[in-house]
Amino acid sequence: MAPGHRSILIAGAGTTGLTVALELARRGFRPRVVDNDVGPVPLAESRALGVNARTLTLLGPSRVTDAILQEAQQIAQFRATSEGRRLATVDTTKVPGRFSAIYALAQGHTERLLLSKLDDYEVDPEWQTAIEKVSGDAKPVVTLRKPDGTVETATFDIVIGADGAHSVVRKAVGIGFPGEALESSFYLADFRYKKEIDPHFIEMQLVDPGMIGRIPVERDVLRFISTLPDFETRIVHPGPVAERLWASEFRIHFRHVEEMAKGNVFLAGDAAHIHSPAGARGMNLGIEDACWLAYLISEGRESEYSRLRLPAVKTVLKQTRQLTMLIAMRNRLAISIRNLAVPVLFRLPAFQRRLLNGVAGYDTPPPPWIDGAL
Ligand SMILES: Cc1cc2nc3c(=O)[nH]c(=O)nc-3n(C[C@H](O)[C@H](O)[C@H](O)COP(=O)(O)OP(=O)(O)OC[C@H]3O[C@@H](n4cnc5c(N)ncnc54)[C@H](O)[C@@H]3O)c2cc1C
Repeated sequence: MAPGHRSILIAGAGTTGLTVALELARRGFRPRVVDNDVGPVPLAESRALGVNARTLTLLGPSRVTDAILQEAQQIAQFRATSEGRRLATVDTTKVPGRFSAIYALAQGHTERLLLSKLDDYEVDPEWQTAIEKVSGDAKPVVTLRKPDGTVETATFDIVIGADGAHSVVRKAVGIGFPGEALESSFYLADFRYKKEIDPHFIEMQLVDPGMIGRIPVERDVLRFISTLPDFETRIVHPGPVAERLWASEFRIHFRHVEEMAKGNVFLAGDAAHIHSPAGARGMNLGIEDACWLAYLISEGRESEYSRLRLPAVKTVLKQTRQLTMLIAMRNRLAISIRNLAVPVLFRLPAFQRRLLNGVAGYDTPPPPWIDGAL
């Protein structure tokens, strides 16, 4: 049977599910994509903002990169401050290749750009369609609940669980999700300003204890993210606020599966790994899983997926954990040492290179199907 004729079901039309669908579609497959929500993430509630250089490389062949670059804000600097004093500045454009390390674009926009390209291949997600059950993994049988409440049972050659952190697919095939949750919560709030703000830098303000991060969302929208429940009273706004768009509190987990596949059932994105937003890796790592999985399926080598992807997942979890511990530390002595060490560390070219390599997503193996990829 020609590979393009294998029946493939993708559970979840988030950034991971849409990317795997697009990467398969451009190689001649016709996957079926289902999602239990009514549509993509609302634009004002976007979680992931950072699109890294590796993602732009991966989405080059489908031309989604061109569309992202037209809409996204290029981040030129990362700044660390404490008590109004600049501790460090890193030039985020100084990475090899044609892209900066990171750009800002709300997840809802990225999902809509992926959907638009997918539409060119006449693959449209079936919204309000939930996976309820998956039985067996050699020739998986899936039970779907449709928008009108009816149930469909169908067999597929391949099932891809891109159904997020609470993945029904992962649970159905009995793959565990070991790890831990941080005790304290993180908080975020997005503000729209009456005038345009400078959207080209990310700033991390180290406070005692905790941090407040400032991240651009659009030319007149900023996100503040913090370890402090009262952080909104401490924000120094760059101008008059027009409106507070969205606020959220969330707990951080560090978890990953021990196997990313069982038989012909594969897991990708948050269904396989979750970690803190420090370093902006979550969505990007899911997109990378998606591209690798589609490539391996097209080569008939999908049985290698878990072995090839797990080391990359572990690398990213380790890096985000280190960054999170650095910003969330509570011990006063450790905080004093950190505040003294940051300016010294950030001046070291080797440290800057390592940091930028991670932010760009270049610390995992490059995609072998893209010539000259970093
Ligand atoms: C505050 C915050 C900030 C973040 N910032 C960044 C960042 O800057 N950069 C970054 O890379 N990442 C970031 N992330 C992480 C990022 O949002 C996630 O990693 C990303 O959304 C994962 O995409 P996904 O497609 O794997 O899962 P999801 O986005 O969770 O999508 C899963 C989809 O599956 C569907 N689904 C669930 N169950 C079923 C079912 N039973 N049947 C059918 N469909 C189902 C859902 O409706 C959903 O559409 C951030 C996360 C948070 C919380």
